[in-house]
Amino acid sequence: MSTLKINNLSKTYANGVKALDNVSLELENGMFGLLGPNGAGKSSLMRTLATLQEADSGTATLDDIDILNDPAELRKVLGYLPQEFGVYPRITAEQLLTHLAILKGITNAKERKELVNYLLDKVNLYEKRNKSVKGFSGGMKQRVGIAQALIGNPKLIIVDEPTAGLDPGERNRFYNLLADVGKEVIVILSTHIVEDVRELCTKMAIMNLGEIVYHGSPQSAIEALNGKVFQKIVSRDQLQGYATDYKIISNKMVGGQPLIHVFSEEHPQNGFEQVAPDLEDVFFSRINTSNVLV
Ligand code: ADP
Repeated sequence: MSTLKINNLSKTYANGVKALDNVSLELENGMFGLLGPNGAGKSSLMRTLATLQEADSGTATLDDIDILNDPAELRKVLGYLPQEFGVYPRITAEQLLTHLAILKGITNAKERKELVNYLLDKVNLYEKRNKSVKGFSGGMKQRVGIAQALIGNPKLIIVDEPTAGLDPGERNRFYNLLADVGKEVIVILSTHIVEDVRELCTKMAIMNLGEIVYHGSPQSAIEALNGKVFQKIVSRDQLQGYATDYKIISNKMVGGQPLIHVFSEEHPQNGFEQVAPDLEDVFFSRINTSNVLV
């Protein structure tokens, strides 16, 4: 069992944007969902943990490794799937994984061949091992990305926005693969897609404007909203008025009309009906929702 401890990490970029604002989290083995809208600071946090950039202050440790002061040690036990996994053109899946295994220091050819075969099999690409990665679908490329992240028995795997651009079938296969991997190591899944976290994660944090605004289980966050979410179909030209009078937490089009969810301690009456809250309500109720109407 490993433990990742993040304490008061802060980072302000040269342009003045405070991407990390005193971020503290503690994680153990399993799938951890880091949910936040675009620009929340997720990638900044992931890149800092992956030792690709420095923080201004704070600490981060994985067991006895000081991540910020000893990045070389961390890299030995890190698997990282960045937002854009750059694949080399005209190279087969097997060649690519072999090349990356060499870079990760697996020098014994026999051991490397066994590992690459094992990984190709694990991500269900063994049959396609001699095909050019360039021609792979988005989902297949992501599975190559997971395979390379597994080289070297990592204790920590960081996956940044992995399901963007995948179709539902590919996303499902990717979920299954991650769930399988996540049993034995710490996996941080950074995403703006609520469904990714709902499907996969027992623990989560919600990030907004560089801050952690929730840390706990998806279930207890949902329970905290019980009896406080109400919905109503309104017309489009009424939306602005509702936004003034109520705390709108989401706005979806249903049959061409806006269906709004509002947060309220008491029943708002006025044609609203109470609904069972879901993780999407949790997400939107905890982040700045001023852009919900656009
Ligand atoms: P997320 O991954 O949640 O979308 P990011 O960590 O990419 O968030 O970005 C957080 C904030 O920091 C955003 O406002 C973004 O524009 C800004 N930002 C990210 N990287 C840089 C950078 N290298 N220089 C300046 N600003 C940056």
